[in-house]
Amino acid sequence: MSETPRLQLLKSAYRWYYFNRSSVIEEPFEISKREFGFKDFSGSMIRHMQFRNRGELLAYIIRNVPRSIYSSVAYYKDPTAPMDIKGWEGSDLVFDLDMKDVSEAARENTFWVCGICGEIGAGKGPPACPKCGSQSIIETEWVCDKCMADVKAATALLVSVLTERFGFSNRDITVYFSGDHGFHVHVNSREIITLSQRERAEIIDYLTLNGYDSKRFEANTPNTSLLYDRAVERVAIDPNVTMDIKRVFRLPGSLHDESGITKCRCDDVQECDPLTSCVMLPDEPTKVRVIYAPRFYIKGTWYGPFKQEDVTLPLSAAVYLLAKGLADPLK
Ligand SMILES: [Zn+2]
Repeated sequence: MSETPRLQLLKSAYRWYYFNRSSVIEEPFEISKREFGFKDFSGSMIRHMQFRNRGELLAYIIRNVPRSIYSSVAYYKDPTAPMDIKGWEGSDLVFDLDMKDVSEAARENTFWVCGICGEIGAGKGPPACPKCGSQSIIETEWVCDKCMADVKAATALLVSVLTERFGFSNRDITVYFSGDHGFHVHVNSREIITLSQRERAEIIDYLTLNGYDSKRFEANTPNTSLLYDRAVERVAIDPNVTMDIKRVFRLPGSLHDESGITKCRCDDVQECDPLTSCVMLPDEPTKVRVIYAPRFYIKGTWYGPFKQEDVTLPLSAAVYLLAKGLADPLK
């Protein structure tokens, strides 16, 4: 199947990035023990790849231009072997904080657009467009100031609990903007690599207050829909990510598939402006037809709202919409 103009433009932007910005990519510790996975622009995923060093990894990325790049949190004897005989030697401890798990605002920001007729609706997408019957429905969780502030606060809370309660040093903890909807926290400490799933579950229970006195939690939380409360310090991590010791996780320095924004370091999570500092695509003017986009912020500038409009945007802002399926390139 030939690539659509949308995928062609996306791929050329990703190609530019990996050719010109490969220094931003952070290879994991002990790279040769990691399983790598890649998603291409047709949506297929390959896994069980191994690279002996950074040079081999970068050469593969520049040659193949993946849409998403993942590496295992685990260390294996043989990363290329089938899952059950890889020979697990340990896993990093990682946390995923997503706007939708943290912020009421994020849940209200979901909308859908019909890819054929442009019909729009709030909330989750219907199976078929009520106007034209098309099943090409694009569902999007839009990023707003409020949900960004909420997920930053939740991430800062996790970091403070990890340092103050668990005794990790700030040196052991790296915070990354995921590239789209939240933050990833990586704990790089020798002591945690061999933690079992049960021990990781205990950490999760502590952070999420699972099994703690729920009366106290409710009493302290007038709005029970709030997912955490500073008084009792419930941290809204995604438990599945931390529990899964064989997961492949987005590689730091790679582009997010649904935004074209880099998964990049945010050393001071409360102060950072990831929608500026992690946007590393160039600003060349790019003409697109926008199906629909609420107002959005990229690299210090607000754009939109747009509805069935032809506009010229910096490539980084155009890719943000193209990657979400909300725009198409114009000649
Ligand atoms: Zn439609």
